Amino acid sequence: MNNVIGSRERKIAYFSMEIGLKNEMPTYSGGLGILAGDTIRTSADLGLPLIGVTLLNKKGYFMQKLDPSGRQTEHQHDWSPSKYMQLLPNEVSVRIQRRDVKVRAWLYEHVSHTEEKVPVIFLDTDVEENSPEDREITYSLYGGDRKYRLKQEIVLGIGGVKLLTSMGYSISKYHMNEGHSSLLTIELLRQNNMNADRVKEHCVFTTHTPIESGHDVFGHELVKDLMDGYVTLDILKKYGGENELNMTLLGLNLSNYVNGVAKRHREISQKMFPGYKFSSITNGVHSYTWVCQHFRKLYDKYLPGWANEPELLVRVRSIPDNEIWDAHQLAKKELLDYVNSKCETNMDCDTLTIGFARRITEYKRPTFIFSDLQRLRKVNENGKIQLIFSGKAHPRDVQGKKFIERIFQYKEELKGEIEIAYLENYDMDIAHMMVSGVDIWLNNPQKPLEASGTSGMKAAHNGVVNFSILDGWWIEGCVEGVTGYAIGPKPKLEESPEQIKIMELDDLYNKLEYIMIPKYYYRKDEWINLMNNSIELIAYYFNSHRMMHRYVTEAYL
Ligand SMILES: *Cc1c(COP(=O)(O)O)cnc(C)c1O
Repeated sequence: MNNVIGSRERKIAYFSMEIGLKNEMPTYSGGLGILAGDTIRTSADLGLPLIGVTLLNKKGYFMQKLDPSGRQTEHQHDWSPSKYMQLLPNEVSVRIQRRDVKVRAWLYEHVSHTEEKVPVIFLDTDVEENSPEDREITYSLYGGDRKYRLKQEIVLGIGGVKLLTSMGYSISKYHMNEGHSSLLTIELLRQNNMNADRVKEHCVFTTHTPIESGHDVFGHELVKDLMDGYVTLDILKKYGGENELNMTLLGLNLSNYVNGVAKRHREISQKMFPGYKFSSITNGVHSYTWVCQHFRKLYDKYLPGWANEPELLVRVRSIPDNEIWDAHQLAKKELLDYVNSKCETNMDCDTLTIGFARRITEYKRPTFIFSDLQRLRKVNENGKIQLIFSGKAHPRDVQGKKFIERIFQYKEELKGEIEIAYLENYDMDIAHMMVSGVDIWLNNPQKPLEASGTSGMKAAHNGVVNFSILDGWWIEGCVEGVTGYAIGPKPKLEESPEQIKIMELDDLYNKLEYIMIPKYYYRKDEWINLMNNSIELIAYYFNSHRMMHRYVTEAYL
């Protein structure tokens, strides 16, 4: 511990509301948290002087149970932080509603296979001196109301900076992973005599939200109620918006480097916030983490050093095709054995298997493939398919929960024709199994709402073929018929949403029926070529090592 904490050498502080470090630590909910985890993992591999800051989330996100009709219930996900981390002696306090709320911290050390460590600080208000209400601030990820959320953001941003300061770190860059931590700029303003230019030099802001309504905003009434006595509303208005406190604006106004998470997302952000200069750094995934054991073995044998130099995956052609295929079939068998043991299915390894898993919410369109059952049946007559779904809906996302029930209804309706499974309680382990065990990774979000998306990159690392809407990272990753297939037209086409949807459905069914099924069943060599291309042309680039090299050279230095 002294090694890491004692050195005070950490120069970059990475703030994120969620960080997915380990499956047993339920401190993440979706892509944002997994990205943060991959950032920590890569930073350790590369020996970057980075320290992570997040909230403890002592009651986790939630465990999902599904009844036989697909109704989701949420169950508390208790875990013991002390099993994985140690309590630090440092304690700071933040002003909330004119009282001092004590914040303590836990230290988790991520150790890379290169033996390098990256510390992650988990902030915790569950201390005896705090009122019962305040003790709960760091309990649940994305739980509670707006007031609860703002308190969490005060603890994360302001408490986080204070804690790092109390520990003696001299931080040169504060990286805000989305607006949840933007309040850190206010604490930095206070530490720098309200000199905004000084603060900006130290701040890096990454936005992940491609629509207006998705940004984190708080009414001034609430802000005043919670923050009065710490900072004046005038200051918050000056940097965070006249009408309400917009955390994206706050981050934008007080950061010298701002980026979107894919090229397309940069364009959209630039339009949404004219007058700010956005860069783009396309997301990546941590290669070693997301490659299954069977492919790890192959890569170790033919591409030694790949884990810390994923560019080497560009030489995947040195692996014989039959070994690629065999590794895939082993991963597939593991997944299907798991599915058959959990769901009442009888899936088999020779059937073309399509996977869809992520947070379940409207814009991800989880039931898109069921839009026209007659066409889906026709696809299935041409060559058998089976479908595996997984994903949690946020407890308050009524719409999202309905999608899960609808998938269960389609499962009944297609009984005896198409095998369909829904895996309960999507988490990192299930994600790992699914992105390596299916043949096709399906993603059909509503454009332009997918800022980047990352699950398809994980799939490509395992030779799984992407079939996706041209949004987010896939605009950059898709070479039609080479690295996978596009669903629907390129962005910016001036068609109406209805027309676009028709084009998307045409592509979905036609490409499955006339291109992908024939390749999979009758031209296996061409299919294996697609698998190779996914590794060669996607995985070698869309990894978090490349991403962090970019953050270092463009944003941190
Ligand atoms: C990778 C991952 C995600 C992100 O999936 P997208 O399809 O990019 O939204 C969400 N949840 C888990 C558990 C993941 O591993």
